[in-house]
Amino acid sequence: MTVATVLIAEDSLVVRTVLRRHLETQGYAIVEADDGHSALEACRETRPDVVLLDIEMPGLDGYQVLAQMKADPDLSEVPVVFLTGHTGADDLVEGLRLGAHDYLRKPFEASELIARVSAAARVKALQDELRRRNAELAVVSRTDALTGLFNRRHIEERLHEVAGAARRHDFVFGVVMLDIDHFKAVNDTVGHAGGDAVLREFAARTQNALREEDIAGRWGGEEFLLILPHTDLDGAATLGERVRAAVAASPFALDDGGALEVTVSCGCAVGDGFEPEELVKRADVALYEAKEGGRNRVVTG
Ligand code: GH3
Ligand code: MG
Ligand code: MG
Ligand code: MG
Repeated sequence: MTVATVLIAEDSLVVRTVLRRHLETQGYAIVEADDGHSALEACRETRPDVVLLDIEMPGLDGYQVLAQMKADPDLSEVPVVFLTGHTGADDLVEGLRLGAHDYLRKPFEASELIARVSAAARVKALQDELRRRNAELAVVSRTDALTGLFNRRHIEERLHEVAGAARRHDFVFGVVMLDIDHFKAVNDTVGHAGGDAVLREFAARTQNALREEDIAGRWGGEEFLLILPHTDLDGAATLGERVRAAVAASPFALDDGGALEVTVSCGCAVGDGFEPEELVKRADVALYEAKEGGRNRVVTG
C-alpha cells in the first residue's frame, strides 16, 4: 500500500510540529505550508491525499483556500479536515458548507486527530480506486475485445462527432470501409481460432499504417471502418492503399508455424456534407465495387 500524504496548512510552527509528529508516527508522509497561498501551491504540486487546513492564517484564510480548492477540478476531491480554535458552531457550519470533509477543534487529542485523518485518507483511497476503475471501464466499453481497435458503438459515436466538427469548422474528412477477402475460406482453412489470430494481426497492420489523427474501429465480423479527419478523397484512397499493401505485403504467421496470404478490399468516400449513414453507405458501395473488380484493391466512391 502506498503511503498517504497529508498537507498540513497551519501558520503556527508549534501546532505544525505537533501535527507532523503525531501523523509521522502513523506512517503518513507530510508536506507543510504556513499560509493560504503556499497551501494552494503545495496542493497543486504534491497532490496530497488529505489536507489539514487551519482557518486563521495570513494571506488567504482557510475558508478561501477551501473555496479555491473546490473550484479547481484537480483539487476538489481532496478531503479537507479543517482546524479551528473557536468553540462556536458558526465556523464549523461555514467550513462544512464550503465542502470540508471534517473538522478538528484545537486543542486536539492525538487519537482524535489520527482517527479523523485516517477516515479522510480512507475516503480518498476509495475515491481514487473508483476513478481508476471508471477509467478502466471507459476503455473497455469502447474497445473491441478481439482486436483492441474501437468497437462498433464507439466508432459510430466518433463518426458523428467528426461529421459534426467537419460541418461546424468546414473541413473535409474521409472514411474507408475495409473487408477482408474470402474470410470464410480463412476460417475454413485455419479454424475459427486461427481466423481470430488473423483478425488481430490484420488490426495491428491496419493501425500501424494509420496517422496519429486517424480513427480505426471494428465495424463487425471482418469489416473495419477508418475515419480520416482532414483527408480528401485522394488522401483516403492513399491511406486505403497503404493498409491494403501492408496486409498483402507478407503472409500472416499462424500459431502452428504456417503462414497464410491475406488480402483486403477497401471502399473510400468523403464527407461532403453527407449524413454519416449516407457516407458509410457510399463507402460500402465502393467496397462492393472493389470486391466485384477482383478484391485486394481500393475503390473511391
Ligand atoms: P468476401 O471476400 O466477399 O468478403 O468474402 P468473405 O468470405 O470474407 O465474406 P463473408 O462476409 O460472407 O464472410 C465473413 C466471415 O467472417 C463469416 C464469419 O464466419 C467470419 N467471422 C465474422 N466474425 C468473426 C470472428 O470474430 N472470428 C472469426 N474467426 N471469424 C469471423
Ligand atoms: Mg492559524
Ligand atoms: Mg464481410
Ligand atoms: Mg469479407
